[in-house]
Amino acid sequence: MSTIADNISQVRSRIHAAELAAQRAGHSVHLLAVSKTKPAPALREAYAAGLRDFGENYLQEALGKQAELTDLPLIWHFIGPIQSNKTRAIAEHFDWVHSVDRLKIAQRLSEQRPAELPPLNICIQVNVSGEASKSGCTPADLPALAEAISALPRLKLRGLMAIPEPTEDRAAQDAAFAAVQRLQASLDLPLDTLSMGMSHDLESAIAQGATWVRIGTALFGARDYS
Ligand SMILES: *Cc1c(COP(=O)(O)O)cnc(C)c1O
Repeated sequence: MSTIADNISQVRSRIHAAELAAQRAGHSVHLLAVSKTKPAPALREAYAAGLRDFGENYLQEALGKQAELTDLPLIWHFIGPIQSNKTRAIAEHFDWVHSVDRLKIAQRLSEQRPAELPPLNICIQVNVSGEASKSGCTPADLPALAEAISALPRLKLRGLMAIPEPTEDRAAQDAAFAAVQRLQASLDLPLDTLSMGMSHDLESAIAQGATWVRIGTALFGARDYS
């Protein structure tokens, strides 16, 4: 059985090979460990092997793990769908939110971000697969949403996030991630972040400009939702 530390070194090798293949600088891609459904000791193991950034989808689950891991200087990223009644806790307990797809949620996060904390880092989730996914703003709505969010005082708009329809076809992966990169480039805003690529498609995402890959299964093994 492979350990989390072994998995981390394999994922790091994949990231490094993809950076080289794309003629990108080494360490230009950050690794976000997606720890949803995994218990606090698994995160502790990943921390011991060098990871600092953890992504969670479910608020209550994340708050429980944060309470168990207060002794570690972890950076917390919220990456799941957001209901209005969850924004206050997200604004108080996370450093990044990758899954903002409407203005109302962004306004609440800005209003509720505690004054003593730095601005909350934000990615706008954009839906580049059309009907296939319900989450994410449409490409047509993106420019106005990005302008409005970039004006909110307690948020720092960093870039875009996308979860294209899963496929093993490399050309289809490349096309979807390239569309996200083009959308980013079309915005007249100083953005430095493209959050895209998961366990099965990180190579394609890195080839198309990802700066964060969000990796769960390849680090922690398959998830058990039973
Ligand atoms: C679960 C999840 C991931 C990780 O997916 P894997 O295929 O397990 O690497 C990445 N991003 C988001 C938004 C997720 O919900």
